[in-house]
Amino acid sequence: MFVRGSRVGRRPGTAASTTNAEPVVVGTVTTPGPSENAVHGSAASTFDTSPIVGIDAALRLDAGGDEAGQTRAHQARSHEAAAEVLADRGDWRRAYQHLRAAMALVHLGDTPPVHVPEQLRREVDRLRRERAEAREQSRRDSLTATWNRRYLDERLSTLGDSTDEAVCVALVDVDHFKLVNDTYGHAIGDSVLRTLVTLMREGIDGPAPEGFCARYGGEEFALVLSGASPEDAVATCEGIRARVEEHDWSAIAPDLRVTVSAGVGCLDAEAVPAEGEGDPTPGALDRVDELLYVAKRTGRNAVAFRDAEGRVRLAGAASGRRGVESVARAVCGAPRTGSVED
Ligand code: GH3
Ligand code: MG
Ligand code: MG
Repeated sequence: MFVRGSRVGRRPGTAASTTNAEPVVVGTVTTPGPSENAVHGSAASTFDTSPIVGIDAALRLDAGGDEAGQTRAHQARSHEAAAEVLADRGDWRRAYQHLRAAMALVHLGDTPPVHVPEQLRREVDRLRRERAEAREQSRRDSLTATWNRRYLDERLSTLGDSTDEAVCVALVDVDHFKLVNDTYGHAIGDSVLRTLVTLMREGIDGPAPEGFCARYGGEEFALVLSGASPEDAVATCEGIRARVEEHDWSAIAPDLRVTVSAGVGCLDAEAVPAEGEGDPTPGALDRVDELLYVAKRTGRNAVAFRDAEGRVRLAGAASGRRGVESVARAVCGAPRTGSVED
């Protein structure tokens, strides 16, 4: 298994401990954190209480004139204001905690305000959705919209949670991409990367529908081919390589030709640290990176992998090239087991 940690869900606070929410400074005021029990009325009055959860009017109705009710109303508004500030900052987790605290205070009323929880629930749902969207955005590459390195790291460190099977991963690098930029300009280079992502995704979809593509850095991408057998992984990468070579790039620039090189291997479970034990990606992909380097050094536009005996080979069209073994010896050292079979 790749990952040994467990995740413990965080339960929202109850009415009796309404301040499960972490403290946040709103203007000059700090709303309470876990160790504090109340939001002070005087503090609450400094908040902008324009409601994002719509509790203000309802609390006024429900609390009537009684003092306890007024205090609760102040507390709930404070949490509401804190949630608004945090939501503006994109700190959805803490905004959500404050909304839950506000909701719990409303529930404390003698007359349960039927209409308010529904309003709150809708707002909390909205915040949760926005939080999920923000989380997704932070894991996307802005140029190509494919997954980014952060997402790759996360997935690599949790892949083994759901399966004991080894997972095949490829590193794909554009050949002579600097020349593409130098010849056609950076904007055309950007278009090439976007189109390349589309081609790679199409190539993954059939054989490894659970797999994904992530931008590893610059003009290099990682393909995680979950569910694909080692043989299928090699065939998939060779298919992608051919697809890129055969693609009509003239729609982007006249006479443009693009090829890629790749290394593909099965991840060694031991090489992937558990979550929180450091950056998982470089160590796990070292051997795949070596294979990519072999593909480059033996002429590019090729996919390198290890066969059942641990020998480095090139797939498909490039399989007849000479000098692979000596390059592999120089780059990777002695043959290893635990390979991708042909
Ligand atoms: P090789 O075949 O050995 O991989 O050669 P290469 O030219 O592809 O490799 P090199 O590392 O020399 O150059 C990579 C280039 O990729 C240089 C860099 O400017 C370009 N690059 C990296 N990220 C981007 C990007 O987001 N957009 C564009 N247009 N170019 C990029
Ligand atoms: Mg390159
Ligand atoms: Mg590169």
